[in-house]
This record gives sequence, C-alpha cells and structure tokens, in this order.
Amino acid sequence: MAQKEYDVPVLEDHLPTPHLQRDALAHVRSHPAKPELQKALGFPGELVEDWEAKAVAKLGELLQKHRSLRVYLDACVKCGACADKCQFFLGSGDPKNMPVARQDLLRQVYRKYFTAAGKIAPDLVGAKPLTREMLDEWYVYYHQCSQCRRCSLFCPYGIDTAEISMAAREILDHIGMGQKYTNEVILKCHQLGNNLGLNPAALRNTVEGLEEDILDDTGVPVRLPVDEKGADVLLVTPSADFFAEPQVDGLIGYAKVFHQAGLSWTLSSYASEAGNFGMFIGSYDHMQKLSARIRKAALDLGVKRIIIGECGHAWRAAYSFLNTTSGPWNFLDPKYPHPQHICEYTWDLIQKGGLNLDATANDDKVVTFHDSCNPARAAGMGGYPGGQFDIPRNILKTVCNKFVDMHPDTIREKTFCCGGGGGLLTEELMPVRIAGMKPRMQALKQVMDEKGVTHMAAICAICKSQFTGVMPRYGMDPYMIVSLHQLVNNAIQLGTKE
Ligand code: SF4
Ligand code: SF4
Repeated sequence: MAQKEYDVPVLEDHLPTPHLQRDALAHVRSHPAKPELQKALGFPGELVEDWEAKAVAKLGELLQKHRSLRVYLDACVKCGACADKCQFFLGSGDPKNMPVARQDLLRQVYRKYFTAAGKIAPDLVGAKPLTREMLDEWYVYYHQCSQCRRCSLFCPYGIDTAEISMAAREILDHIGMGQKYTNEVILKCHQLGNNLGLNPAALRNTVEGLEEDILDDTGVPVRLPVDEKGADVLLVTPSADFFAEPQVDGLIGYAKVFHQAGLSWTLSSYASEAGNFGMFIGSYDHMQKLSARIRKAALDLGVKRIIIGECGHAWRAAYSFLNTTSGPWNFLDPKYPHPQHICEYTWDLIQKGGLNLDATANDDKVVTFHDSCNPARAAGMGGYPGGQFDIPRNILKTVCNKFVDMHPDTIREKTFCCGGGGGLLTEELMPVRIAGMKPRMQALKQVMDEKGVTHMAAICAICKSQFTGVMPRYGMDPYMIVSLHQLVNNAIQLGTKE
C-alpha cells in the first residue's frame, strides 16, 4: 500500500525555535475507541449526556487523590522556560504543543471550577468553562503528548506535563471519549497477556522458530523456554520482541546471554507483555490489573527473580510502580527483590567476566545511542544516579569498538522522545509522529555527517518501531536502528564459555 504523503520537516545544521504555526496539528486526531471497547474496559461507551458535570467531578477526584496534580496546576508562573522544549512543538510550531499551553487546557478548567479567583473573576485568571470545544481540544492535544517529561526537566518548579496529560486522558475515558489505539492494547493485554494478541500456542511456536534460527546460525542449541516451572528467572519483555525487527534480534541477544551464563530462566505465556498501557491513559486500576499478571506468573512458575526486556515505559512501570501496583514481592530472592533491567543483568555479567564478547563483530558499524525518555527521566538503573545512562553505554562500548554520542543537549536526561511514545504509535497520528521525531533526527544526522555514524541503538520497543516506521520519511535507512542486545548478540562467542 502506498504511503500517505505528509509534510516532513527539513533538517538543518541546528535546531531553531520554530515560527508559530497556529493550529498546525489541530486537525490530527486519534481514532476514538468504539463503544464496545470502552465498555469492555469499564468506561462509558460514548460521550455521556452530563459530560461536563462528570468530567469536573472526575477532575475533583483526581485532585484529591494526587496532590501533585493540584500543585502542578497551581504552580506555573508562565516563565516560558518549557515553551521550546517539547519535540512536538519544535517539529510543528503549533503553539498548543508548547508544554505550558498544553497544561493550560486543563488548568483553565481547573481554575474555573476549583479556585475562588476563577469563580469570581474568571477573565482575570484565565479560567474557562468546560465547553464541547474545549473537550475536543483536550482530546486532540493530550493525545499529542508522549508523556516524555522533557519539559519538566527545564521547568523551575518541576511541573510534569506528563502527569497532567495522564489526568486529562483519564477524565476523557471516564466520560466516554477514549482513544482506540491505547484502549485496544489494554484490552488485548487483559484478555491474552500481550499487545499482539498472541495466544500461548502461537507464542510457543514463535520462540521455537527462533530457537531453530539460532541453531542454524550458530550450531549451538540455545533455548527460549516458555512456562517452565521452577526456573530461577522470569523474563518479561515487550511482545514486539517476539516478531518485530529489530526487536527480535534483541530477544535472541538476551537468550544468548542467559545461555552463556547458564541461567535457569523462562518466559511466561500468561504475562507475555512487559508494556503497561494503563500508564498512558492515567488509569491506576488498569495498570494494577495488568501488572497483577506478572505477579501471578511469577508465583505460578515459582521464580526467584524478574528481569525486564528492552522497553522504556515497561521499565518505568516495573521500576516505579510494580511494588505499589502489585507488591509485596517478598517471595522473590532477597538479593533481587525488585525487577532488574536486562541491561543491568548483562552489564553485571560482563563485569564479572561471565561473557565472551568479540567487539570486532560490530566493526562494520559506528554506533550511537538514543536514550529513551522513560528510563532517562522516570526510572533508574544500577542503583546509582545516572546508571540508566552509563550502563547501556558501558555495554555498547564493550561490544562495539566504534561508539560516539550525539549532541549533549539531546542525550541522557535531556534526551528527546522518539515521537511515538505515550500511546502515539498509531497510523492516524503520523503527522504528529513525524514532527516529534525532528529533534532526534537532527542530532542523528549531525553525527552521521560529522562522525560517520551508521547505526543507532535503543532499549525501547516503541522507539525502535517509531524509528523504523518514520525514518524513511526523513530519507534515512530504517535498518540503522538496532536493539542494544542485537549488538551483544553479534559479539557473543557461543560455545566458548558455557
Ligand atoms: S511530549 Fe514531553 S515535552 Fe512535550 S508536553 Fe508532553 S511531556 Fe512535555
Ligand atoms: S517552565 Fe514551568 S513555570 Fe515556566 S511556563 Fe513552563 S510549566 Fe510554567
């Protein structure tokens, strides 16, 4: 099928603050969830009649529940420090994609219904009633925020637009205006345990195919066990790892690492998705229900330790929320009471001399690394500040002789979102995804031109899908994108250490 034509930003030798393009992305609207999908998730099927009262009541409930939300809505002084920090504004010039303007869509309504000044003198404090027009703006612009938290890094008050966007989406769901893409994924995960709708037989079949491929390539029988009771470790990985390129090469990389380490491990056909899209719609109920699958799988299989595969928001959900949503995890090995990231596991093994790696296997590549937003700004790694930046780079420098970083303003905690996170990875949002990818493409092009970079590694399934899907629009080769463990997979010398 021919690709639809969209405007693609021109990459320059720097990233200018764009001229304002009023309403540039106002027409780009996520497909709404159908009534049966909404109802299956416990939300109203369509917009409820008394939507204004219900939305305001839900906002009131969220303000009670999350003190941070009220602080974020009260604290903004309109200093403008966040205005040019969002990739969706930088790529489109649409002023409603400035973080402060995005926040204001909810803040105006908050002021009208929940502050004395907003009730007495609404015009003076920018308070506005929740009209149908406003509701539509919420729907459009809160689905153009990838909840990447970059803006919060530059805000002197630490105001987190991601939290505001999650609250807005939760309100929208509760009045019957859910988004099709995220809600479909959540339902599939509730029903079958993964985003793809892979049933246990299909999952087994897929990994058996991978085992055969590894045997053909290397002559070594590397296993990818499924539902193996009594295994020490449960690997929970994004379901894209089972079939998508380049994700699957990363999964093969994890399997080879476990094989060489002699680890007893298993996948679960019940908890076969590390991603938790409940987070994207701000629903702690759905987050909890989804993460309970991991708990049940761990208990049923009797594992002692949990490792999470390469997925940005899955790592945030595991690192920051798993204990509260589905703890206590007191049945795990006390040495590993929390889930570990696959990079933590591999780096630990490398440091102990447990892997035989030949970096010359990647000598045909000059590699750079894209920090994904959720590990970068919403989680950690290795138990020390900055571990989430150092550990993936340490592995890359071990398995590649040629590694270079991109511009310092675009990496580590200042990293840009790939443009597809937070529930945006859907075809109808393609103009938003293209615009949002501009800052990363700009930084990548710079190191390609100046340092000869040929490949960009990532540790997030969504980043990998977004990049491979959208890079051709920028005239770039989608095969430049590699899984970090794909490079480990290339370098590992099987049959030498086991
Ligand atoms: S996409 Fe990221 S930078 Fe933009 S408003 Fe949302 S959280 Fe802030
Ligand atoms: S940086 Fe913070 S205080 Fe300043 S405009 Fe943005 S959200 Fe408001």
